Amino acid sequence: MKLRLELAAAVAALVECCSAWPSDQPLRQIAIIGAGAAGSSAAYFLRNYTTHAGFHVNITLFEKTDRIGGRTLTVNPFNDPAQLFELGASIFVPVNHILYDSVTEFNLSTRAAETDSSSIIGIWDGDRFVFTLDRSQPSLWKGLKVALRYGLTNPWKTEQLTAATIAKFLRIYDAPFFPFPSLTQRAQDLGLDAFTGVTGEQVFKENKIGALYAHDVVQASTRVNYASNIAVLHGLHTLVSLAANGAIGVRGGNWQIFSEMARRSSAFLALNTTVVAIDKGEDAASDRPRYTLQTTSGIAPDDTTTFPVAFDNVIIATPYQFSGMSAGVGVLDSPIEAVPYVELHVTIFTSPSWFSPRFFGLRDSQKPPGLVLTTLASTDTPDSGVAGAGKAGFFSLSNIGKATNPKTLREENVYKVFSPEALTPDFLSRLLGSTVPETFTGEASPITWYHAHVFHSYPKAYPRVKFQDPVVGQGVYYTAGMESFISTMETNALMGKNVARLIVDDMLSTRSSSGLERGRDGVAWEDKQRILN
Ligand SMILES: Cc1cc2nc3c(=O)[nH]c(=O)nc-3n(C[C@H](O)[C@H](O)[C@H](O)COP(=O)(O)OP(=O)(O)OC[C@H]3O[C@@H](n4cnc5c(N)ncnc54)[C@H](O)[C@@H]3O)c2cc1C
Repeated sequence: MKLRLELAAAVAALVECCSAWPSDQPLRQIAIIGAGAAGSSAAYFLRNYTTHAGFHVNITLFEKTDRIGGRTLTVNPFNDPAQLFELGASIFVPVNHILYDSVTEFNLSTRAAETDSSSIIGIWDGDRFVFTLDRSQPSLWKGLKVALRYGLTNPWKTEQLTAATIAKFLRIYDAPFFPFPSLTQRAQDLGLDAFTGVTGEQVFKENKIGALYAHDVVQASTRVNYASNIAVLHGLHTLVSLAANGAIGVRGGNWQIFSEMARRSSAFLALNTTVVAIDKGEDAASDRPRYTLQTTSGIAPDDTTTFPVAFDNVIIATPYQFSGMSAGVGVLDSPIEAVPYVELHVTIFTSPSWFSPRFFGLRDSQKPPGLVLTTLASTDTPDSGVAGAGKAGFFSLSNIGKATNPKTLREENVYKVFSPEALTPDFLSRLLGSTVPETFTGEASPITWYHAHVFHSYPKAYPRVKFQDPVVGQGVYYTAGMESFISTMETNALMGKNVARLIVDDMLSTRSSSGLERGRDGVAWEDKQRILN
């Protein structure tokens, strides 16, 4: 009840604030559904662009959970807020301009990628470690070790190919490639459809990069980043998963970038509010449609209400197929494509124990690596999902740091596992070399704290050259088509920014056709002439 009253008061304020606005500047009401990377970025850039262009808009950001960030979230071992680790998206890289610039602008501090203390990385195929590397060794030694197994040129050629492809992609940030009403068209313009249209395996074959290197090293990257194998994942996702140089995260959680974006957008934030339906209506004063949203709240999930503001624009900033939303007649020009997503189990737990050597077929005297990436065994099939995990049974296993157990005041290992299915006590017992009970934790368990979560993490990203475009109806936009192209925090934030620009360009063209022209700097055209003269 309290939430409802607060909501009603806030909405009244939203409407009231606008009576002071000049009547020749109709107020735009914009709804954004989903406060993850895409929705928060859309809100942030909408505010920037409209302020710059001299438009007045009300932005309402609907979020079904009680927090901002979506798939960017942290967990606290032992429920201690001072100890935290990323459960979802954990890293981004220097070429991620939106995230990097935001971190600087918002004065957030960064950390290196979450890594283990042992510094040894191993690639396991379910039978044996096909390759291990001690990252603390000098570069020359590491280079020699890689060259001995995979040849001198394969790593270098891979690096060149990745850099060249990322350089092609980066052109999308600037005119004439930005903004883009059609992602399909932009992929073609940038020549990136040549990479999305084939598998990673084909890309490596075409570029004459050794099959063993692709199978072991490249595939270990695609499995940890996209839970997919190179024979099924498209080439662009494959190369993106290799572009991890200089990876960082935000100290305290990457979600802070998006929280700050939302805050700076001055959007009205409707948390715990699930949009269940979008309906199209008419605006008596213009030929443009107005959209009404049906919502439910976290406290009354069965009680549907009509949100008391009608919207000129709606941005759907979440994968539509999982949103639980319906779209009324005329909202969408055509149905939004349902894309197959990976169902990824992410488990984080603490233990004083290290991995058991026997689990990996090592001798008792051999210490297993702290970061175990995986690849397929020779007998495995390369499909993604459960079948695609192969003999290894999981995609990656890593010691991501230490946490202090409040009971013992001792530091323990924090582990993160990416797997296609929920971990079982049997798996964990073998992994840690001692019995894990059905309850996972408990007096006799080697596990002291346990947290498991299932995500629709990213699309399976099979080869394709057509993508769901961002304009899905008259004044209705969609961001998650980006995920079949490249699924990262940055690219979804980029799609949010793109949609914001498309909306403001549409507003500019409406204003110019109604004689109220202003430049993108927000200065009225007539005023500009006066200043210039
Ligand atoms: C385990 C994991 C690891 C990852 N690692 C990385 C990484 O290291 N680096 C990287 O860049 N990317 C990574 N990613 C991918 C990255 O997290 C996503 O691409 C990105 O965060 C998606 O952002 P989004 O805003 O498009 O969607 P989401 O983050 O899914 O946001 C959508 C929001 O919409 C809300 N919502 C849904 N339906 C409704 C509704 N009906 N009404 C109101 N709100 C609704 C949801 O609650 C959610 O908050 C990872 C993803 C996972 C799962």
